Amino acid sequence: MLRFSIATVSMGGTLEVKLAAAARAGFRAIELFENDLTFFSGKPREVRAMAQDLGLDIIALQPLRDFEGMPEPMRVRNFERAQRKFDLMEDLGVRLLCICSNVHEESLGDPERSAADLAELADLAARRALHIGFEALAWGRHVHDWMQAWDLVRRADQPNLGVVLDSFHVFARKNPIEGIAQIPGDRIALMQVADAPGILMDPLSLSRHHRCFPGQGDWPVTDFVDYATQTGYNGPISLEIFNDQFRGAPAVAIALDGMRALQVCGEELDQRRQARKLAPLALSRSLPKPAKVGGVEFIEFVTSTSHSPRLVAELEGLGFRRVARHRSKDVDLLRQNDVNIVINREQDGFGHSFYLVHGTSVCAVALRFDDPERAIDRANALGAPSYFGRIGPGEALIPAVAGVENSLLYFMKDGQHATWEKDFIFFDTPSNPGPLTRIDHLNNMVQRSEFLSWVTFYKGVLGFTVEPQVELADPHGAFYSRVLRSSEGVVRIPINIADGGSTAVSRFIESFGGGGVQQIALSTDDLFGFVEKARASGVAFLEIPDNYYADLSARYDLSADLIERMRDLGVLYDRHKDGEFFHIYTRMFDQRFFFEILERRNYDLFGAANTPVRLAAQAVEQDEMVRFKLDFD
Ligand code: MG
Repeated sequence: MLRFSIATVSMGGTLEVKLAAAARAGFRAIELFENDLTFFSGKPREVRAMAQDLGLDIIALQPLRDFEGMPEPMRVRNFERAQRKFDLMEDLGVRLLCICSNVHEESLGDPERSAADLAELADLAARRALHIGFEALAWGRHVHDWMQAWDLVRRADQPNLGVVLDSFHVFARKNPIEGIAQIPGDRIALMQVADAPGILMDPLSLSRHHRCFPGQGDWPVTDFVDYATQTGYNGPISLEIFNDQFRGAPAVAIALDGMRALQVCGEELDQRRQARKLAPLALSRSLPKPAKVGGVEFIEFVTSTSHSPRLVAELEGLGFRRVARHRSKDVDLLRQNDVNIVINREQDGFGHSFYLVHGTSVCAVALRFDDPERAIDRANALGAPSYFGRIGPGEALIPAVAGVENSLLYFMKDGQHATWEKDFIFFDTPSNPGPLTRIDHLNNMVQRSEFLSWVTFYKGVLGFTVEPQVELADPHGAFYSRVLRSSEGVVRIPINIADGGSTAVSRFIESFGGGGVQQIALSTDDLFGFVEKARASGVAFLEIPDNYYADLSARYDLSADLIERMRDLGVLYDRHKDGEFFHIYTRMFDQRFFFEILERRNYDLFGAANTPVRLAAQAVEQDEMVRFKLDFD
């Protein structure tokens, strides 16, 4: 039966914790990595009972290493070793033993000999009703491509011997995958899936540190599963992820991400099969399709009564105006065109808890969907439960799920601005035209260990796409950034990833009490006009060194007048093809967040070329702050 499985090596913690996490995420099958058994204090039969209690089948024991094609006397010893594994498998109730291709320096590399060893082992296994799977490691000494592994399996020609296909090794070796469809399905012992980022690195290091779940990297894992299932293979599809970051994270979270990634992979596969008029494999529960994201309806800041005036003053300097007050809560709505900013000063409830941990910060973002009910159903089906806040009588109940650092992500109906009237009393006119037209993007900061979870969340749950990783220089090191875009590109969320050290991202996460929204980028059609007005009303912008403008005039054929004007106002510039980008940053608010105001002229990027300038200027700003305290009143 085609079904999902996860290898115990993919998760961190003790064997008990791993099994419980797999079961809780909805897995019914696991591969047992032998080290997990070695470190377990109980007997193999106890593992078997524990798995049974949790409803988990142990589908394979792995790995037996350096087996095939060894000279004597190592060859004889290998067969003795294998017999002991068979004993163990009987205790565990496991039928499949996975062998990975030999990396031993003394291995002979003669295909006839290796095939004969595999045939003999399969014969021994058959007497105990056991199966053998043979897998090509990308760094195997003689066998490193799936085609070679399949060749040995074919030569050995035993019904209980099959090839193990692992997308990691296949893609790491850049093997062609079309031919996989030609393998008879009953000769595939096991299908393992893993993804990885498209970075240049030797396969072994890539495997140890960067394997990730399908959809988290850059490889076409669904294509691989597609070809492998065309064979008629109907065994488990098993996640086998070696990744130190994964093992450092809670097993429950990793298992949930794995299940989510497989569900989405299965969904994509069935869509393709449907297009080819093939029956669905129905690997995944049927998932509601992602709803169309129409935009950001509001951003909610949480603050205190004493900090609120500064925040409101900053927003008013940017052209926002307080247009309404909440009917039952200490909450205001500030607005400019379609940009809504909610300021929450409540003394209890979710917002206040968030404030106690993070200080004045963005505690929630509301997205608009064409069909929010479907969007939330999909989130629930993919293991993201709904959150409902406390509301007053007659007020709108807006469902939410947990976002980065337990902030909230609200699901609202596109085009139904009237909902505001239910909760807010408007002062006079609800509209406030101004220079800022829309939210352009929201930068989130996350720990490296959490980043891939958010990729799976935004891609899988919300149907966003993920752009390739960009490395950015920081005065104190480097960090990484990847941009998540909603399907129509309306909502853009660059995620910046801390990699330790004292980069701006790492320091943010430290001082912020975790990750979160650090940058709110708002767009305007007239940046220069906007900055002049905002400066006049007291908004403090980040100071950009003169050298930046000297460099700018050397790099681009811009008029001296334009450069002078940018220098006077502190405006930054970038160009891509025939597009131009003008932008400026406000000073940090309590070292937590800042606004970027930007004007795009046929330009679709994020001005990454200027990020080092911004970071250096922010570092200077921080150094100037002689005292920096987390003032929570
Ligand atoms: Mg493998």
